[in-house]
Amino acid sequence: MAAESDVLVIGGGSIGVCTAYYLAKRGLEVQLIDKGDICSGCSYGNACLIVPSHAMPVPAPGVIRKALKWMLKEDSPLLVRPRMDWQMFGWLVRFASFCREEPMKCAIPVLRDLGRASLELFKELGVVEGLSFDFQQRGLLNVYSSHAGFEDGKKEAELLSDFGLEPKVLTGSQARELEPALLKSVVGAVYFPEDAHGSSYGFVTAMGDVIKKRGVTVQTGAEATGWLANGGNLAGVKTTRGDYRAKSIVLAMGAWTPQLARPLGLKIPVQPGKGYSVTMDRPAVCPEIPLIHVERKVAATPIGNRLRFAGTMEFAGIDLQLNPTRTEAILRGAAEVIPAATNPSNVERWCGLRPCTPDGLPIIDRVPGFSSLYVSTGHAMLGYSHGPISGKLLAEIITGSPTSLPVDTLRFGRF
Ligand SMILES: Cc1cc2nc3c(=O)[nH]c(=O)nc-3n(C[C@H](O)[C@H](O)[C@H](O)COP(=O)(O)OP(=O)(O)OC[C@H]3O[C@@H](n4cnc5c(N)ncnc54)[C@H](O)[C@@H]3O)c2cc1C
Repeated sequence: MAAESDVLVIGGGSIGVCTAYYLAKRGLEVQLIDKGDICSGCSYGNACLIVPSHAMPVPAPGVIRKALKWMLKEDSPLLVRPRMDWQMFGWLVRFASFCREEPMKCAIPVLRDLGRASLELFKELGVVEGLSFDFQQRGLLNVYSSHAGFEDGKKEAELLSDFGLEPKVLTGSQARELEPALLKSVVGAVYFPEDAHGSSYGFVTAMGDVIKKRGVTVQTGAEATGWLANGGNLAGVKTTRGDYRAKSIVLAMGAWTPQLARPLGLKIPVQPGKGYSVTMDRPAVCPEIPLIHVERKVAATPIGNRLRFAGTMEFAGIDLQLNPTRTEAILRGAAEVIPAATNPSNVERWCGLRPCTPDGLPIIDRVPGFSSLYVSTGHAMLGYSHGPISGKLLAEIITGSPTSLPVDTLRFGRF
């Protein structure tokens, strides 16, 4: 017998659990399935930053120049593995077309508002649901080890100030006063006091428990493999654990979303952007404020009694092979601005796939041409930060309610 519900959410990452939560809160009967465990995808080992300050979209003027310099170097922050993949080629062409001032300036307020609204929801969820995930609001330091990099950082800070963000430009010594773990190599920093951090795994798994308490049926180890139709309409999915039927279906499968959508004739413009992290027990000298070494694109985040380094972007399709050259590059990049962890203990190396759209904005919408199919993906580097607001927005869309934020720029049909 097929399990039936109002809504079936496919994917138990940050986006899936938050969507299930806000749907259940609105009184809908919800099922959530995941091919692995809750939080076994990209939400597992990310940098754990909750960052309204990250309002610059990935495609921006100058990105192509930087990307061309880096893109074939095995240890660079951005790597594109050349392969015969027309989908990826088309995606890169579209991405390049968004690397202009006008689309960038349209995207900044959208990402700012998603980030701010989500941060408030993290705080609300912490209180209302009693979540404990090492949440702290201590800001974020973008640190620079070169004068040229710092000059670029100051320009970016000025631009973000024009959009109502409140970055504070600090000299190297002011930055060290704020965060004594920084090395003398730091020539300057931009501090974003509004930003926060907290364990992504802690948050998503806690939300997994909360949704069960709110009546959501959660099935792990169930991979959606195909579609069930009822006349001309979608009625559910086939999975490795049987059929699941629902009135509405939400695709929240991160980088895997296009795969399941393809048999429906849908081309969802999402490419996996692989990133890595290295997590260890807190070393003797550990930053208390999360930081990003901007020139190396490496983040260092203290999470409870652990310290995590994360970064790099690699376009190589669905590929979860751990490449030690890239984790070593992350550690080297971090050691340029904070003391290297000597004899690190309890080290975990991880990689995950960010779901990336060509314009740097997520897709949160009903799929045109399908009355019961919805998608929430493409959150790229911000899927943890934007989890709660994405869940809330899609729940509002599905129930036909006014949305908390404008969603026109997040429509499926914009591509
Ligand atoms: C190195 C790195 C650092 C990052 N740092 C940050 C950060 O600091 N802040 C931030 O906001 N974001 C960060 N991100 C991005 C963030 O992790 C992602 O945007 C986010 O995790 C995406 O969440 P998701 O729920 O869409 O996807 P996922 O977490 O990948 O979840 C998708 C789920 O779908 C399941 N699934 C897939 N296919 C199927 C199927 N056929 N059937 C059933 N289930 C299926 C998967 O098992 C998975 O659990 C980072 C990413 C990386 C790689």
